Amino acid sequence: MKLPRKIAIGFQEGICPLRCNKCLAFGRGISQQKEVCKMPMDKVKQLIYEIAQMEKVPIIQPCIYAEPFANPDLREIINYCNEQSIAMSIITNGILMDDQWIEFLINNTNPQYTISFSLDALTQTTYEKVRGKYMLGQIESQIIKLIEGRGDDGPRVTVNFTVEEDNDGETVGFIEKWKNKVDGVRATVGVDMHRQIPMKYRKCDTNKNIKNQKCLYLDETMVIDGNGHVRSCTFDAFGDTDFGSVFDMGILGIWNSEKMMRYRKIQEQGNLTQSNFCSGCEAGTSAMKHSKITEKYVINEGDYAIYYNIKDKYNLPLR
Ligand code: SF4
Repeated sequence: MKLPRKIAIGFQEGICPLRCNKCLAFGRGISQQKEVCKMPMDKVKQLIYEIAQMEKVPIIQPCIYAEPFANPDLREIINYCNEQSIAMSIITNGILMDDQWIEFLINNTNPQYTISFSLDALTQTTYEKVRGKYMLGQIESQIIKLIEGRGDDGPRVTVNFTVEEDNDGETVGFIEKWKNKVDGVRATVGVDMHRQIPMKYRKCDTNKNIKNQKCLYLDETMVIDGNGHVRSCTFDAFGDTDFGSVFDMGILGIWNSEKMMRYRKIQEQGNLTQSNFCSGCEAGTSAMKHSKITEKYVINEGDYAIYYNIKDKYNLPLR
């Protein structure tokens, strides 16, 4: 029985205080409207319980295209995950991270959790271009507060930087600034609206190279929309793919279904037709493919991504 390594669940989708240009759900050039969809708490608990019964329990990412801290149920979800001994990987823009949340996270998460802050900027001017009119310095202070308050039993804390035209000059400075302050710093080249690496950053004709490459997202990360339907990956913001509902077929029923297995195979063999959602997609190149261990770091690398992790706090599988 094949198991996902991570399960991203849209407990609440369609709500985010930001409208970043690069976002595939809310960004520039998106003509569709992302619908608000909230999973009822009994369904949330049903899925978490089902995940807890798995032979090797995956981590849960409690959102797909949304700000997880905008979900009023998040505290209850974290508490229920703890009851079921499941850890989470929470990716946030940090805007709603007030002192109450910091205190809650310090008291209710553990080293198996990762809290990742997507900052994408070194300076306020750049932050406003790539994210919005919020105070970068304030979010940074909250990150430091979380690090200082968590002690040995608290969550792993990381920061993210998605490289795009407006911030690419700050990439190296960002990595250097955070490398020794947090447990991990990740920089990834952002794909465009067609899920392709922008020309400016291409190392070669990436599309030729990926034709026969297995997409690690499709293979390792399961994505369950707010209505229970399974998508190919987090890049499918509007439900173009649909492998069925977990409320009808069960989580592993879908992950191991003939439909999903067949789809993975044709993707890996490069036999996708034009109409397949994954056709031409280069987003998989940002998945981590190799790990390098140095005295202080575990450095994971993808074709267009790098992730420095403090060795002592590292809790992910090596590549
Ligand atoms: S090929 Fe692209 S669209 Fe398909 S699963 Fe991978 S990342 Fe998602």
